[in-house]
Amino acid sequence: MSWREGLLRRERNGVVYFTAESFERTGLVAHAFTSKLGGVSEGECESLNFGFSRKDEPERVLENYRRMAEVLGVSLDSYVSTLQVHEDRVWAPEGADRGMGVLDRENMEKADALITDLSGLTLVKHTADCVPVLLLDPAAKAVSAIHAGWRGTAKRIAQRAVEAMARRYGSKPENILAAIGPSIGPCCFEVDEPVYGAMAKAGLLSAALVRDKKNGHYDMDLWRANARALMDGGLLAEHITIAGLCTRCRGELFFSHRRDRGKTGSLAAMIALKGET
Ligand SMILES: [Zn+2]
Repeated sequence: MSWREGLLRRERNGVVYFTAESFERTGLVAHAFTSKLGGVSEGECESLNFGFSRKDEPERVLENYRRMAEVLGVSLDSYVSTLQVHEDRVWAPEGADRGMGVLDRENMEKADALITDLSGLTLVKHTADCVPVLLLDPAAKAVSAIHAGWRGTAKRIAQRAVEAMARRYGSKPENILAAIGPSIGPCCFEVDEPVYGAMAKAGLLSAALVRDKKNGHYDMDLWRANARALMDGGLLAEHITIAGLCTRCRGELFFSHRRDRGKTGSLAAMIALKGET
């Protein structure tokens, strides 16, 4: 397997974020894996927090979204975000769903993966150690944003999104580009039996298992597990980019649920198809 490694570090108006070169080269999308730098939140959410359910003031979170919209060149009402429930549902929002989860936080869908072929929608997924995955099919002009914790990874949520793009937009998996963003790395993801069992049941153990510590604990690699699931879905290894950035290790850049013991903010993975010009 020979996927690409590393994202590009970008900074604009003080906002630090990361992009995939393979996505940038298409010129078709605005996208970002955010860092925690460049926002207005304070305390444990300092400073670029995108989670309204965190210990933060809604006005500050909204200002962070506003800043990111400026960076991406999208409008504030283009965001669509859903409740993340560690399931494998893939949902395709319509134009009328603009604003869900950001401007309108009352009636949110439950879905861990979003897909669209519409420009004017900015898909948002939140993480703070869980794995964010972005997909872009430059041929069918369709995108996806995915939240994959260990449960979602074991449910092959990224592969389910690929299948949904094929069904709905006629995407050919061999055309789809993928970026696996900053998240807890194999260096820091020590787990016990339930995770081991879930990966084994999913057929992802050989990709995920780094080390059996012989005491009922295991080091797991969710990056490789998600890459494996994407390849099982038909993606080419050379179309997959793995950030290789561990949120727990890189405290100067990222929020981390494990490191900060839950007292932390939310990172975001965002992607929007640019409109016809
Ligand atoms: Zn680490």
